[in-house]
Amino acid sequence: MNLMELGWNAGFQTEFEKLSRPDLVPARVSNVMKGHLRVRLEGGELLAKLAGKLLFQARHSSDLPAVGDWVAIEAHECEERAIIHHLLPRRTTISRKNPGRATHEQVIAANVDTVFVVAALNHEFNLRRLERYVAMVWDSGAQPVILLNKADLCQNISARVLEAELCAPGVAAHAISAGDGVGFDVLFDYLGAGRTCAFIGSSGVGKSTIINRLLGREVQSTLPVREHDDRGRHSTTSRQMLALSSGGLVIDTPGMRELQLWDADSGLAATFEDIDEIAMQCRYRDCSHRAEPGCAVQAAAESGQLDVARLANFVKLRAEQAFLDRKVDIHAAQEAKARARLLCKGLREVTKFKNRT
Ligand code: GDP
Ligand code: ZN
Repeated sequence: MNLMELGWNAGFQTEFEKLSRPDLVPARVSNVMKGHLRVRLEGGELLAKLAGKLLFQARHSSDLPAVGDWVAIEAHECEERAIIHHLLPRRTTISRKNPGRATHEQVIAANVDTVFVVAALNHEFNLRRLERYVAMVWDSGAQPVILLNKADLCQNISARVLEAELCAPGVAAHAISAGDGVGFDVLFDYLGAGRTCAFIGSSGVGKSTIINRLLGREVQSTLPVREHDDRGRHSTTSRQMLALSSGGLVIDTPGMRELQLWDADSGLAATFEDIDEIAMQCRYRDCSHRAEPGCAVQAAAESGQLDVARLANFVKLRAEQAFLDRKVDIHAAQEAKARARLLCKGLREVTKFKNRT
């Protein structure tokens, strides 16, 4: 694969040239594992380590390369190894809050062009959940596209497609059936050489089935591959960025499957544009649209102009967001501590690295 087929473009080229490092070459991160990463570049794939300086300068884990990131590497092709010196600015960032207590942003995937939000057209079809996922995608900077899978189980497909499009203004919705491949052609409109996509949606909606069908005969490459980990033991990992023979790339990582709402503020605004517009008529600027006098949003819900369930979801999402924001404040202090720990860890890594070479 050449760089363009891997998603390289003029914007990345400009950023790369700004580094003024003719000794380095661009590469794209295809796997992130505990001890090391894998990068793809023109003509192959290399195992990669982070340069000490990159580790030192990282303030958060989000400053370190994630799957899909473009990086500048020192390639030692004869040994099939590389050292990552720089992370190029991301065009889009899919992230979530860290599991556990910390609420740092954790980058799940970078530079994704299209995120397919997958839902199943069975009894679990839920517009509210769809809204959440679409908000998250808007927030990442990628283009959301709704895929209503399992169309074979649905009697009123066109009504469902319309509902989905109404709940997510500006987002296309397509009914497909991954089981038998009906409607699949539409996916290729969003793929093609150098285009990167990812899939989100609840468990069981058919993401793996869709990806496997897209990969066709390449299903092999989704099987776990054996890797040597840091201690020289074998460990199994699966490929996280896959190339399609028809052109285009799919990012599929465990993290993509457990996405949570993270800082979806701007995403919320785009998804609930209609509510924001009505809210301009509320008497109070900070109206919570619950029980305030002169609330235009409540009035719209009462008159039927605005779907009540949609309003309820908006209020819930906003409350959740406010909760998350508070947690971020509390954790700002703990962040300083965590950063010190990261630095210590970086120092150990560098020492280990130096002792080895
Ligand atoms: P994931 O958790 O989103 O990756 O979902 P899977 O791809 O594992 O699919 C969950 C189940 O739905 C599996 O049993 C699939 O065979 C089934 N499934 C996937 N696509 C379709 C479809 O288009 N129609 C029907 N009826 N079942 C499907
Ligand atoms: Zn109001």
